[in-house]
Amino acid sequence: MRSIDATVTQLMTAKGHEQVVLVADAPSGLRAVIAVHSTALGPSLGGIRFWRYPSEHDAVVDVLRLSEAMSLKAAAAGLHQGGGKAVVLVDDPDAPRTDALLRAMGRSIDDLGGRYIAAEDVGATPHDMQVIASETPWVTGLEGPGGSGDPSPMTAYGVVQAMGAVLDELDGNGALAGKRVVVDGVGHVGTHLARLLAEEGARVAVADVNRERVDGLVREIGAERLSTERALEEDCDILAPCALGGVLNEKTIPRLQCRAVCGAANNQLADASDDDALAGRGILYAPDFVVNAGGIINLAEEFVGYDRERARKRTAQVADTVRRVFELAREGAADGQRLPGTRRTRLRGPDRHRRRARPAGRPAR
Ligand code: NAD
Repeated sequence: MRSIDATVTQLMTAKGHEQVVLVADAPSGLRAVIAVHSTALGPSLGGIRFWRYPSEHDAVVDVLRLSEAMSLKAAAAGLHQGGGKAVVLVDDPDAPRTDALLRAMGRSIDDLGGRYIAAEDVGATPHDMQVIASETPWVTGLEGPGGSGDPSPMTAYGVVQAMGAVLDELDGNGALAGKRVVVDGVGHVGTHLARLLAEEGARVAVADVNRERVDGLVREIGAERLSTERALEEDCDILAPCALGGVLNEKTIPRLQCRAVCGAANNQLADASDDDALAGRGILYAPDFVVNAGGIINLAEEFVGYDRERARKRTAQVADTVRRVFELAREGAADGQRLPGTRRTRLRGPDRHRRRARPAGRPAR
């Protein structure tokens, strides 16, 4: 036990986490970890993930990474929020949870007195969140009066805005019509994203381990079906990772055939150095925590009285933030500097992508 504690505190210190709470409730079988990365800008906000982890250590590592990403996301989106996250260790994320377990989770969140504010994340259902909210007021994203509801449509809307900025950077024209976009993972966000892309006239290809979700989009919007193995290797304008994190790594990056990566999944880079590998391939990377901020922007609107249209306008500004990131990346690349407070995204590269990544009229990097 001692060595695990030492590892957790070392991991916390490395990334500046303020607090990690290990939760266990024997009667209900709840096992969870709540991480507060930063409250410097406001209370920490982030989703509750129900997931099957190989070990408790993996759960801790994941919650630390995810909560840090929430701090970056809130800061980049200009919100008065910090970053937090919770993971609940379950055998089957798709199996229903008992109310007793969810209530115990709610009490654990309540004990933090508002330092951590919960929302829905992978594996969580609206029903789960309602039961948790019966024990604590520190829950956002609920359906009903004052609540912002499911954040995924707004997240998808923000991703589309970000893609416009990406195409503008590549081609000097942000139009999605005719562009080939691969959506890898068509759950809550990916499905909405695929629909919005189809409305914009993009050529949409989709992949998911869940066949039914793929079938639905093939029928509904005429999406092209891809196997999950092929999805990353498809020749396309934009690859949109919308499943789980770590998808961009030393094995996958050499195989990518996209011009840019712009998707909703959190923590797409397996390692911080992977952005260099992408840059080396001449692939434009729009940082995930900027691209997928629509969800948290939507949630944060609850604190000032939720208004969907205002949330949409604020989410549209994701495109401006992406443009600003590219500008900073150009300046940073010119100086050989790492970007302060965000991941470096160098836009240089030796192949065909490089030429496209420098629109006419823009300064060479
Ligand atoms: P979700 O659970 O509804 O969807 C994830 C989808 O990925 C599922 O359909 C699942 O079957 C699929 N999947 C799992 N493993 C896969 C694999 N190996 N290859 C292809 N598909 C696979 O989750 P979601 O809410 O749509 O979120 C997707 C991602 O976006 C997550 O990383 C989440 O943290 C992030 N995100 C979501 C929101 C939001 O508003 N929901 C906001 C910000 C970030």
